[in-house]
Amino acid sequence: MTKLTPMMQQYIDIKSQYKDAFLFYRLGDFYELFYEDATKAAQELEITLTKRAGGNDPIPMCGVPYHSAENYIKVLIDKGYKVAICEQVEDPKTAKGVVKREVVQMITPGTVMESNMLVEGENNYIGSLSHFGDGSFVIAYNDLSTGESRLALMQDGWDSVIHEFYHQPVKEIVISSSLPEELQAQLKERLQVTLSYQDEVNFNAEFRELSENLNDERLMEAFSRLLNYIQNTQKRSLDHLQPAEVIELKQYMSLDMYSKRNLELTESIMKKSKHGSLLWVLDKTVTAMGARMLKKWLERPLLNQVKINQRLEVVETFLNAFMERENLRESLKSVYDLERLSGRIAFGNVNARDLIQLKQSLQNIPAIKETLNALHVPEVSELADALIYPDTIVEVLENSLVEEPPLSIKEGALIKEGYHEELDKYRDASKNGKQWIASLEKKEREVTGIKSLKIGYNRVFGYYIEVTRPNLPLLQDDRYERKQTLTNAERFITPELKEKETLILEADEKSVELEYDLFIKIREQIKQDIPLIQQLAQIISEIDVLQGFATISEENNYKRPAFQEGVFSVEGGRHPVVEQVMKTGTFVPNDVQLDADNQMLLITGPNMSGKSTYMRQVALIAIMGQTGCFIPAESGILPVFDQIFTRIGAADDLVSGQSTFMVEMLEARHAIQNATANSLILLDEIGRGTSTYDGMALAQAIVEYIHNHIHAKTLFSTHYHELTALEDSLEHLKNIHVRAEEHEENVVFLHQIKEGAADQSYGIHVAKLADLPDELINRASVILESFENNDSKEAQKEEAPSLEPEEAESAQLSFFAEENSKEHKPAKLTNKDNAALEELKSLN
Ligand code: ADP
Repeated sequence: MTKLTPMMQQYIDIKSQYKDAFLFYRLGDFYELFYEDATKAAQELEITLTKRAGGNDPIPMCGVPYHSAENYIKVLIDKGYKVAICEQVEDPKTAKGVVKREVVQMITPGTVMESNMLVEGENNYIGSLSHFGDGSFVIAYNDLSTGESRLALMQDGWDSVIHEFYHQPVKEIVISSSLPEELQAQLKERLQVTLSYQDEVNFNAEFRELSENLNDERLMEAFSRLLNYIQNTQKRSLDHLQPAEVIELKQYMSLDMYSKRNLELTESIMKKSKHGSLLWVLDKTVTAMGARMLKKWLERPLLNQVKINQRLEVVETFLNAFMERENLRESLKSVYDLERLSGRIAFGNVNARDLIQLKQSLQNIPAIKETLNALHVPEVSELADALIYPDTIVEVLENSLVEEPPLSIKEGALIKEGYHEELDKYRDASKNGKQWIASLEKKEREVTGIKSLKIGYNRVFGYYIEVTRPNLPLLQDDRYERKQTLTNAERFITPELKEKETLILEADEKSVELEYDLFIKIREQIKQDIPLIQQLAQIISEIDVLQGFATISEENNYKRPAFQEGVFSVEGGRHPVVEQVMKTGTFVPNDVQLDADNQMLLITGPNMSGKSTYMRQVALIAIMGQTGCFIPAESGILPVFDQIFTRIGAADDLVSGQSTFMVEMLEARHAIQNATANSLILLDEIGRGTSTYDGMALAQAIVEYIHNHIHAKTLFSTHYHELTALEDSLEHLKNIHVRAEEHEENVVFLHQIKEGAADQSYGIHVAKLADLPDELINRASVILESFENNDSKEAQKEEAPSLEPEEAESAQLSFFAEENSKEHKPAKLTNKDNAALEELKSLN
């Protein structure tokens, strides 16, 4: 072992406490990284790896300039790493030996505050997960940039935890290392998050105010775990944290991860972006706070009809008041992100420009209140009343800060004249001095007779009198002391000038210092009122979302829904996203009728005719309604769905390592286990992931199970035409189909929903369109004809009476169930059945 320098020894000591982070070690104007940190960072950041002499073994090292460090840190954070910022904490000039250094902040994916690492209209959540002996879990969320915290108690097992995290994605999860390894691995793999550990949990006194709403020890522990971690990493004021809110999962419509994804609520499946999602269509908010709130609302539609109607009432009012809405939008546009501003005020990293933004934002409040009150609608006035104008903050800012302050808070020019007497004195002194100097130039020119003589200033030499070389002989007096020689001029100073310079510089220095102190005082004063600003932010976001709903409802001709238990009755319903993105043609509206008699709709129709669009639109209309937005329809009566379940579209690799079919079955199980009579279930072509027999058998069994045991409103699309026979045996099931027409040998999709089952021959027309060989098409037509002549309904009618109910079920499948037929005493096969079977057997 070669002996390390004291500095390297210090590095190693500090690094040993931050093993899971890149240690950015401050050295002069650089942050340096050493050893493995350096090799890895050089690779990730694409910067040069160098070496530092370290006895026999040179030490790998790389560095990034202090002033551009943020960009490099962002790259690492985006990749899921953590960065520990280690600064010099004593003045190098007075330090004895190695300058003392400390980690002053940990930047982690879930705790970034820097605006270049945050997305404006999106929250950045860190989560924590705590597990308890009784099998329950608690998830706690916090967005450090806005200060909000939310907690949810999960008592339905591990799956619901994963669902919740899918629902509310986080970048980082704080856990205890006692969480079983297997569960840790699942979090990492399925959610792709950074895991952080916080084993020691202390409920500090400061948490008391934040935890007022928590009435359960488990919630307290989970919240403390998260706060402890945040304190340990941030090491600074967290005064902006708001009291934690408990998410009463029972207050909101539950949307599992499959539904949120399948319905493309906030993100499109293909592009994984907001574009093409419901959020994208509905987002007419004008503030970043409003955009974040809209997303939260869509993710958790309401169950409480009173609350839903309150929102709808405001939307309707705004919709009918175009002028007022325009005024409101104008005012809102000049409201900055108050939530994040509060966060930065608490963190102490706002400058004077931020505070001017705060002032300008707050100055809009009276106008907003006035506009709202002028509408004379109780629900709207309630919002106006909740907007409390913080006049003291505005007053302080108005009196103290200049309108256009510089970015830096350490170079003066921040504070208004007349705000502080002492400051004004310094400024006067400085100003008078400068005026005196200006007049000195004139005087010196007269005394010396040098017309080109001038007085200037630079940082190194201070004030000087400059005389060009040819004029030097005119300077006779020994008052002039030489200071600096240039190629064609000389610079001088006089005792008089020196004296004034000292006065001016002293005054300038003092006033800059004083301005800084005053600014910090103002900031601290405003910090006291953060809760007030946060409450305003909350109400402003709400108003913004609701005006957005009104705006989009007007633009897209949405209508206000009414609510009635157990009935979903929509006329002329449309898919809100498809109707926006359609490049050709117009969207064909369709009615939907679900009620006690029509609990289940079995949808048939050719591929591409619009089955899944129809199913999705039912769910999206329900979600929009329960969020408090108008709906894309001519008119609508909606129930309040407690939950929505979906099994739609191509299952992808969400759950890694599982087959499409397995995913399909997991989604179906999830629905069957959790749905109630008040739920909505959408099942799109379930069973298609396996062989025909299997698939159809499962599909039918699932339909029957839901029909007989769950009674949830269900839409079920299938290409197993045989299932349409279920209409006869299941009382509350109804067949509908999407209409298509033949037109000069072509199939024309009309996208119209009609009663009854579809004619099943379109598949062959589509195949024809696709130019499959004639021989093959003809053959398919023959096979089809034989199927149709022996339709399973007929078989059931003829043979079923003698069968027990269970046998009747298999009888419906008997046409395909050749193997089972021996055991189950199936319906007898007719000659035509046999012919068809022979033909089928001959096919590969
Ligand atoms: P399926 O589920 O029957 O295969 P989709 O629902 O995926 O069909 O619809 C296929 C395409 O048809 C959609 O991408 C859309 O462009 C169009 N479409 C669906 N429904 C309508 C409609 N009501 N009006 C107009 N076009 C529609």
